[in-house]
Amino acid sequence: MTNLNFVGLGHMGLPMALNLHKAGHRVYGHDVLPEARTRAVAQGLEVVDDPARAIAHSDMVITMLPAGSDVVAAYRGSLLSAARERTLFIDCSTIDVASARVAHDLAAVATMRALDAPVSGGVSGAAAATLTFMVGGDARDVESARPLFEAMGRRLVHCGGPGLGQAAKICNNMILGVSMIAVAEAFVLAERLGLGHQALFDVAANSSGQCWALTTYCPVPGPVPASPANHGYRPGFAAALMLKDLSLGQEAAAAVGADTALGRHARDIYRAFVENGGAGRDFSAIVEAVRKKGK
Ligand code: NAD
Repeated sequence: MTNLNFVGLGHMGLPMALNLHKAGHRVYGHDVLPEARTRAVAQGLEVVDDPARAIAHSDMVITMLPAGSDVVAAYRGSLLSAARERTLFIDCSTIDVASARVAHDLAAVATMRALDAPVSGGVSGAAAATLTFMVGGDARDVESARPLFEAMGRRLVHCGGPGLGQAAKICNNMILGVSMIAVAEAFVLAERLGLGHQALFDVAANSSGQCWALTTYCPVPGPVPASPANHGYRPGFAAALMLKDLSLGQEAAAAVGADTALGRHARDIYRAFVENGGAGRDFSAIVEAVRKKGK
């Protein structure tokens, strides 16, 4: 069993930390927000006001924070300087590839080990311990953290060296953002042509139009009863998070000179949706924006 610090007890971090605690690990939780600390204590997690004190007793430190600047600031703050040599730092936040690599470099300079390990599966996957981890860093470090990943999730893919977990996450979500818009456009076109939702679904789900956005997360009510379209587009995966990931994809594409025209267009479409009040709705609600935009 591992002694570890868990920093960032928000929507994702708290259920992940609780699953580690339930699996028998000694977890010292921390969040800058007092309300988040109170919520965690109420659910049975051991919480510290100052993570630096507990880190000296920890073998691993997991961070689950909003953005790259938060992760780099936390590493530069007290986290790295308070840890014992060769403590393993695992960042599970979704952040830009450049900041992930800065975090790896800061850890190495401080004689620590590091992994970037963003997740997919959302809040429900965090609660049910069914997350998928996309991991960048040294294979031996991935192996030493495997029991922790297994306590929080169901699948782990070692994607390569530093930053490549984040690279996999943003590439995957670029496919998802673009394909959701494509599926939404197809349903709206079908409506105008008089083709029923179920008929289009039955054809495309068994033809070359088949994809996750259609068969698991269908953006119109009916064909896939569990999809958010049947539940008032309650997330799920909020449009604001899709916009965040598509924007990270565009930052990365600009940094390496990759032409991602559809990724850019999808980012712009989700940005307009979020700015027009869609931030907290599931990202599949984009079908309503597509429907409204036509003549
Ligand atoms: P959240 O805003 O609910 O939680 C983040 C927590 O970090 C907050 O409680 C905040 O107070 C805390 N925090 C910020 N800076 C801190 C610091 N320096 N020290 C300690 N605590 C600090 O966000 P979330 O939904 O839990 O998402 C966390 C990360 O997971 C993000 O990078 C997000 O993109 C990613 N993610 C979220 C989802 C999802 O469905 N919510 C899915 C996959 C990935």
